Amino acid sequence: MTGESTPMRRRRLGVMGGTFDPIHHGHLVAASEVASAFHLDEVIFVPTGQPWQKTGRRSVSAAEDRYLMTVIATAENPQFSVSRIDIDRSGPTYTVDTLRELRGLNPDADLFFITGADALAQILSWQDAEELFALAHFIGCTRPGHTLTDPGLPVGGVSLVEVPALAISSTDCRMRVAKGQPIWYLVPDGVVRYIDKRALYLDAG
Ligand code: ATP
Ligand code: MG
Repeated sequence: MTGESTPMRRRRLGVMGGTFDPIHHGHLVAASEVASAFHLDEVIFVPTGQPWQKTGRRSVSAAEDRYLMTVIATAENPQFSVSRIDIDRSGPTYTVDTLRELRGLNPDADLFFITGADALAQILSWQDAEELFALAHFIGCTRPGHTLTDPGLPVGGVSLVEVPALAISSTDCRMRVAKGQPIWYLVPDGVVRYIDKRALYLDAG
C-alpha cells in the first residue's frame, strides 16, 4: 500500500516497432542506447503484423518466426520484452493502434516510441501526427546514410538520437543468407541458428 502523499513515479516504457525479419544488432543497440539516454525502465519490442509499408514489395516471413526470433534475441536482457499485440491484431499494422493498445495496457506509463529516423518520417507523414504525439514521445534513431536533419520530420515532438554506426539491415542479412554468406555477429547467435533451423531466407535474393 502506498500512502496518499507518496508521489508515484510514472514508468518509462520504450516501444520499438519493426518488421524484425530478422531482428539484428542494429535494432538491439538502438534500443539499448535509447533506454540509457532516456532512462527507460523497459523496452517492448513489437513485431508488426502485415506491414503496410512493405506490402507488395516482397513477402514478409511468417509473423510467428519473426516473433520467435525477437524473443530469442531479447531473452537475456531483463529490460527487454516482446509483445504480440500487432501480430495478433488482424490487418495491417498502424502505429496509432499499437500505441493506443499499449497505453490501455499500461496506464501507469509514459510511452517512448523508438524507430529509425527514416521510418519515423514515413509514419508521421502517413498517420495523424497530432494523435501520435498525444500518445507517445517519438525518438528517431539515425543510422548510416541518414542525417539528423531529415526534412520529413516536424520540429518539436520528436527527439533524434545518434546510435553507434551499425550498418546492418534486415535486407542485407536476408541477402547474405540467400547467397550463403555468414550472418554471424550481425544478428544474435540464437537467431543465426533459428534462421538455419527453419531454413529462412534461402530464396530471398
Ligand atoms: P529492412 O531492411 O527489411 O527494411 P530493417 O533493418 O530496416 O529491415 P526493420 O524491422 O524495418 O529493420 O526496422 C525496425 C526499426 O529499426 C526501423 O525503425 C528501422 O529504421 C530501425 N533500424 C533498422 N536498422 C537499424 C540500425 N542498424 N540502427 C538503428 N536503427 C535501425
Ligand atoms: Mg527498414
